[in-house]
Amino acid sequence: MLFIKENIANIESRIKTAAEKSGRNFKDISLVAVTKTISPEIIQEAVDAGITLLGENKVQEARGKIDKIKGDVEWHLIGHLQRNKVKIALELFSLIQSLDSFALAEEIQKRARQMQKNVDVLVQINIGLEKTKYGINPADAESFIESVASLENLNVKGLMAIAPFKENPEDVRPYFREMRSIFERIKQESIKNVEMKYLSMGMSNDFEVAIEEGSNMVRIGTAIFGARDYSK
Ligand SMILES: *Cc1c(COP(=O)(O)O)cnc(C)c1O
Repeated sequence: MLFIKENIANIESRIKTAAEKSGRNFKDISLVAVTKTISPEIIQEAVDAGITLLGENKVQEARGKIDKIKGDVEWHLIGHLQRNKVKIALELFSLIQSLDSFALAEEIQKRARQMQKNVDVLVQINIGLEKTKYGINPADAESFIESVASLENLNVKGLMAIAPFKENPEDVRPYFREMRSIFERIKQESIKNVEMKYLSMGMSNDFEVAIEEGSNMVRIGTAIFGARDYSK
């Protein structure tokens, strides 16, 4: 027995508390349920319990699930996107949260133009400068976004980050704080084609701290669906 509905209610109440702590409304925080390794049947339970945003890391995995889910939902890509999968990704996802290189941005631009659509993206920042993670170096964030802004069919809608893992979520607070400051700085630049709307940060282990530091989009898997089983 999985307690998905209960888990979601519990997370929503924790989001509410964290939002209030930072003087904001629960409604201003988007909850993305992260569904990697989770079956369509279980994902459907989350959607039936009120989830409207779903996040997948891999294009192929998402492709096998999206048609099976009933309801008014949007899918976000939250994992590294290979250039040869861009075309399919643009068909499946309403937001690409993981724009992590200019070569990828150019490929998205090329495909988006062919498909005559505009594509919303978040720029992934490697806030902990970790070798194992994708993302733009924080020091290059602004110039990267200025370059991407010149690509007509791409709309930058904000930033995404995965903080380094720490046992104690308090230890990631400085990373979230730095993300917030990059976000605010770029917002003030008022770059054409760029809207700093979403600051996507916070996962099961650290979402409350992320919200307290200004996140308005959290991506949560384990705390909704339980520990992932990669053996299946
Ligand atoms: C897996 C994943 C999450 C969710 O992580 P949990 O710890 O299970 O909540 C969020 N964001 C990204 C990019 C992920 O890959």
